[in-house]
Amino acid sequence: MSVSLRFFDSHAHLNNDQFTDDRAAVRGRMQDAGVLRVCEIGYDLESSRNAISSAAAEAGCWAIVGVQPNHPEVAQDPTWLDQLDLLAQQPNVVAIGEIGFDHHYAIAPVAEQEELFRAQIALAARHHLPIVIHSRNAHADTLRVLTDVRHPYGVIMHSFAGDVTYAEACVDIGCTLSLSGPITFKNNHAMHDVVTAIGLEHLLIETDSPYLSPHPLRGKRNEPTNVPLVAAFIADRKGMSLAEVAHATWQNANRLFGLSDDTP
Ligand SMILES: [Zn+2]
Repeated sequence: MSVSLRFFDSHAHLNNDQFTDDRAAVRGRMQDAGVLRVCEIGYDLESSRNAISSAAAEAGCWAIVGVQPNHPEVAQDPTWLDQLDLLAQQPNVVAIGEIGFDHHYAIAPVAEQEELFRAQIALAARHHLPIVIHSRNAHADTLRVLTDVRHPYGVIMHSFAGDVTYAEACVDIGCTLSLSGPITFKNNHAMHDVVTAIGLEHLLIETDSPYLSPHPLRGKRNEPTNVPLVAAFIADRKGMSLAEVAHATWQNANRLFGLSDDTP
């Protein structure tokens, strides 16, 4: 894999405990692999604050802040949205997320998840920021809300999973699909078809580190260094060069997150 290529990992949790001991080494390996940009993403207020401070300390690192649907306890503090609003104004925050629905864990009732979701979409709209969607076993609800609000500042489907029909429905309303390790699994035929069907202009790549390691690292701790494996799978499947996939997903991420090649 040529080191002259540049990759953008759109979604990683580098503040996870699994990186406490060797974060610097992980950062070093990323650079060596050409993974020059990464977004660190929160799932509640504390992890969002951590994402801002650690991203501020590293080059090529930006923060995404938000409350994930499996953390409804955050909203018990009546000031949560004001606190998030302040975080959204930090200069290195490039999106609001991860937000959406999780009907797998279903920690909060659907109506409560939806309230949290819609409040954060409105917040993102106030700040003209894109949103990063967490949707697990929740295709219909996610599509319903996104179709209703038509967020105009960019919608990124994090670790997209679904069939071609759902993928096309998402793209039709302006979503970008961020693809992760599981697309590389041999039996993931639905996602293989999605990779074939959806144009590169609608795709990002991500690791969701420390989760979702691509083949052949499945089951091990994931890190941004591995995002070229996702790009390589897309290139192979589409009959394109790795350089083309790296370049397009780099440009797409920059455009969505409001960055340019010159952004330090
Ligand atoms: Zn995540």
